[in-house]
Amino acid sequence: MHEMSIAEGIVQVLEEQAKEQHYSKVKTVWLEIGPLAMIESEALSFCFEAVTRGTLAQDASLQIINIKGEAFCMQCLKNVPITQRYDSCQSCGSHQLQVTQGDEMRIKELEVE
Ligand SMILES: [Zn+2]
Repeated sequence: MHEMSIAEGIVQVLEEQAKEQHYSKVKTVWLEIGPLAMIESEALSFCFEAVTRGTLAQDASLQIINIKGEAFCMQCLKNVPITQRYDSCQSCGSHQLQVTQGDEMRIKELEVE
């Protein structure tokens, strides 16, 4: 279950930022996840709760924002929506797509004390 290591990674980022930004408690984490990141929201929430125990993010609420996948189609010369990494273009059926958005996971916003 790679959600566990992702959750641990998030806590690491939170702890590093706490030093730089001088906060001692995280109350809410807004996390953006793209459909190509292959992250199970429910599993991640579960892992997040487990790994934050005893850390500055204990009892923090994890808000997951699902962002859309998007790729640039070499045939249509425009961005088209995708839901999986190896999707074909919905307009022309081409597989020459370059993913431009949706394979990332990032912390969008934090509520801290
Ligand atoms: Zn196309």
